[in-house]
Amino acid sequence: MAFVLRHRTAHIPEPADSEEETTTAPMSPRGKGETSGSTNHLTAAECPSSQNGSLLDSEEQKRKGELDDRGAEEEPEEEERASGDEGFMGMTPLLQEAHHAMEKVEEFVHKVWEGRWRVIPHDVLPDWLKDNDYLVHGHRPPMPSFRACFKSIFRIHTETGNIWTHLLGCLFFLCLGLMYMFRPNMSFVAPIQEKVVIGMFFLGAILCLSFSWLFHTVYCHSEGVSKVFSKLDYSGIAFLIMGSFVPWLYYSFWCSPQPCVIYLLVILVLGLAAIFVSQCDFFATPQYRGVRAGVFVGLGLSGVVPTLHFVISEGLIKATTIGQMGWLFLMATLYITGACLYAARIPERFFPGKCDIWFHSHQLFHILVVAGAFVHFHGVSNLQEFRYTMGAGCTEDGNL
Ligand SMILES: [Zn+2]
Repeated sequence: MAFVLRHRTAHIPEPADSEEETTTAPMSPRGKGETSGSTNHLTAAECPSSQNGSLLDSEEQKRKGELDDRGAEEEPEEEERASGDEGFMGMTPLLQEAHHAMEKVEEFVHKVWEGRWRVIPHDVLPDWLKDNDYLVHGHRPPMPSFRACFKSIFRIHTETGNIWTHLLGCLFFLCLGLMYMFRPNMSFVAPIQEKVVIGMFFLGAILCLSFSWLFHTVYCHSEGVSKVFSKLDYSGIAFLIMGSFVPWLYYSFWCSPQPCVIYLLVILVLGLAAIFVSQCDFFATPQYRGVRAGVFVGLGLSGVVPTLHFVISEGLIKATTIGQMGWLFLMATLYITGACLYAARIPERFFPGKCDIWFHSHQLFHILVVAGAFVHFHGVSNLQEFRYTMGAGCTEDGNL
């Protein structure tokens, strides 16, 4: 059936629309001058030796000759094709239009499948793909094929940096996490418990980074897929924040289990609330960019309460040395800077069209998230080492 349709449309002239005028138009590496006809027609047009009509005609004649030579066994197919042509001519204009549209979709999917698509400007993106109008060009078109989306990881477009920053970050934390988990038990005071607690941080980081690179990879698949993965992406940020709190609270309140449990329950409830809000469709819209940044910065800043608790009970000197507050402060600065760049879309707002591929706000935000998570891990591993040198015992006063 598909062959019949393609063969037929090879003879129907198409309107010479520019491929860049419509987002669902086939993307061809040849450019605007190419006819957007059937797959067969395009294949011929793309051949360097077939750039004019006469060459195409001789090609068609040759093909006809070949068909004639094939003899009687080919007849049923010819009949089918003829009846297909008759059927098409007998269709109402509306049906012909519908068939035409279906062919275009079929052809587009086929081209995307083969990786033959071009980046397009922001203003021709469908609404569900429009996110940041300061990124003027270099966007992927909608590509309703997961295979094409994953192949696009190796192409240059607005999402390339977003994908790779968190894909590499994810692999980095995966290796670091495995190394940590396989450290000899004699390096810990309570090996199983400590590995589970630090494992929560690695789990949060790996979930956050993997949901993120997956979202940026399949974001252009379709509206439904983009919605599902954006919810996972936002939930991942909440997982990272929740996972980061666990080992920090565990070591910082080693000798005060009651406040430790209370703070853990609070971050659990707040984190689940952030995940709940992330499931609302409006949350992913461009208008709510500031709200999103605010929700996650707020979730992270809920750590101010246990920090103050620690500083008041241990003193500022102990908090900044043993308590690793300097590293925590650096981590918070990195995350908050990233969130501000993300919300305000800096630097591309000052250079529209100049940061389309590299160094736009989302990429910088991604890099700062990976850096912030690593700084947090460094602080936590210092806390763990302190606990190891001190042993499991506690003094009369203090949290540590
Ligand atoms: Zn992202």
